[in-house]
Amino acid sequence: MTLAPGHFVLAASGGSLIGFVIAFFVAFFVALWISMIIWAWRDIRSRTQDVILQIFGTVLTAVFPGVGILIYLILRPRQTLADLYERQLEEESLLAEMTERQTCPTCHYRVESDFQVCPSCATKLRRACPRCDRLLELKWNVCPYCGYGAGDGGRAGMRQSARAAER
Ligand SMILES: [Zn+2]
Ligand SMILES: [Zn+2]
Repeated sequence: MTLAPGHFVLAASGGSLIGFVIAFFVAFFVALWISMIIWAWRDIRSRTQDVILQIFGTVLTAVFPGVGILIYLILRPRQTLADLYERQLEEESLLAEMTERQTCPTCHYRVESDFQVCPSCATKLRRACPRCDRLLELKWNVCPYCGYGAGDGGRAGMRQSARAAER
């Protein structure tokens, strides 16, 4: 029995096709594997500054292709460093807001900056300027908004009007 030369050509081309397909898949999975490692490396670096953890996360992904990245996704730190930073900022601004809140000097009830009188104990907190009606601190002798009280006898006049307002 002799084989026609065509058989060899067919067998050779079939073999190279399978070889090509295998090579294609191998290349595809290697590329996928490498991108998983790169992704894990970038991801872990955005979540922790601990070098050991960074290496561990990346090696885990590299050593067990596919499965490693699943384990990594389960075990990775939940928050990124950017999230943590943002949360810190939020907490700080909240704290600043809380300390900024004013309270009544007599009963420590929370008051707003535009209250004239404490709603709880009726302590006078601020008074309105007789000319421009803006709220002034009780200590102020002159209205900083319209200049009322400045100039000749202004101080006395302002005091008088303040006293009149208190009555
Ligand atoms: Zn009060
Ligand atoms: Zn004024």
